[in-house]
Order: sequence, then C-alpha cells, then structure tokens
Amino acid sequence: MADNKLVISILKKIGEKIEEQKEYLTELDQPIGDSDHGINLARGFHEVAKKLPALEDKDIGTILKTVGMALVSTVGGASGPLYGSAFMKMGMALNGRMELNLEDFLKAMDTAIEAVKQRGKSTVEEATMLDAMVPAAEAMKKAALEGGESKSVLEAGCKAAWAGAEHTKDLVATKGRASYVGERGLGHQDPGATSFSFMLEVVKDAL
Ligand code: ADP
Ligand code: MG
Repeated sequence: MADNKLVISILKKIGEKIEEQKEYLTELDQPIGDSDHGINLARGFHEVAKKLPALEDKDIGTILKTVGMALVSTVGGASGPLYGSAFMKMGMALNGRMELNLEDFLKAMDTAIEAVKQRGKSTVEEATMLDAMVPAAEAMKKAALEGGESKSVLEAGCKAAWAGAEHTKDLVATKGRASYVGERGLGHQDPGATSFSFMLEVVKDAL
C-alpha cells in the first residue's frame, strides 16, 4: 500500500489540505467552540512540514512518532494531544517498518481510535472526531473483508467518514468545548470529525 516515502508525501499533502481548509475548519469551531480548530491544526502541520525533510530515510514508525510529538507540542487545544497521541501510537505500532500494507493500515487506524478514546475519555456518538474515525474504520474493514483493493477500501472509508461528520449535527456533544453549548450545538458539524475526513481523503487520493 505505501512505503516510507509515500507516507512522507501523504503527510506533506495533509498539511496542505489543512492549510487550504483552515478557515472552513475554524468557522465550524465558531458556534460550538472557540474558532481555532483550523488555526490550531495548521500551526501543527506547519511544524510537521519542517520536520519531514530530515525524516526522508527513516522508518514509518519513526516518521509517525515524530509527527505525533510535533502535533502535541504545537497544536494547542484539545485536538493537539488527541491527534498527537493517535499519530504517536500508530508510530509505535509500526516501529521499524519501511512499508505497510492495507492490513497494517487498518490496524493502525484501530490503534489511532484507541489512542483518541483513551486520551479523550470519549466514545462514539459524543459529536467528536471519533464519529468520523470509527465509522470510517468499520467501513474500511468491511470493504477489505469483501476483497476490496486499497483504493476502493479507502473510498468506502472516506464516504463513511463524511457521513459520520454529517451525523455529528444530530448529536449533543458531551466532550470537549462543544459540550458547554449543549443542545445549542445541534445542527452544527463537528470540526474534528471534519478535519479527520479531510485527512483520510488525502490518504485515499495518494493511492
Ligand atoms: P479546543 O476544543 O480545545 O479549542 P480544537 O478546536 O483544536 O480544540 O479541537 C476541537 C475538536 O477536538 C472537536 O471538534 C472534537 O472533534 C475534538 N475533541 C475535543 N474533545 C474531545 C474528546 N474528549 N474526545 C475526542 N475528540 C475530542
Ligand atoms: Mg477550538
């Protein structure tokens, strides 16, 4: 599915996508949060982009761990430690690997989900990034079991991620800043579920 060079290129493109969607992600964070999600993530991935050149020949585990640490230390806001630990834990699971296949990627997704759940003390249906991540992972596993190739598996994952992000409009947030607005958050799409969907889309487009 991907070698270390492709992983580097995907991470660079995720940074570009986040930069491109910075204002939209920040607007989504306005009614239910503090209008900074896009700004936070763009700052984090700007730092990631600075670290990528030195990681060109490193293994995928080292690359992802470095990304996670950069996100934790620069993003600020809840999404920093959450995405940060997701990338760090994926990196630990892929220690020493120069290539990964679809099965490895799906396992890494599960690791990322567990990391967010643990760090955020959260689960699905709480209007967070998990509401995009979990359905995406489930859809990808199903598509893989049905014999799908990486590209079609990722297509199924993206579709489910966006549907999950859309579904956060129907949920009352019980975690993070959005929980402060309670039912007034209804009708608003969660910024973290949206940023995750954009990231997965970059992975899909790179295959
Ligand atoms: P902050 O809320 O501190 O301003 P951001 O705006 O960068 O941080 O990120 C907000 C996003 O983080 C939310 O849209 C949500 O998806 C995610 N989030 C917040 N708290 C949690 C949590 N406990 N578990 C999972 N995701 C969370
Ligand atoms: Mg915010």
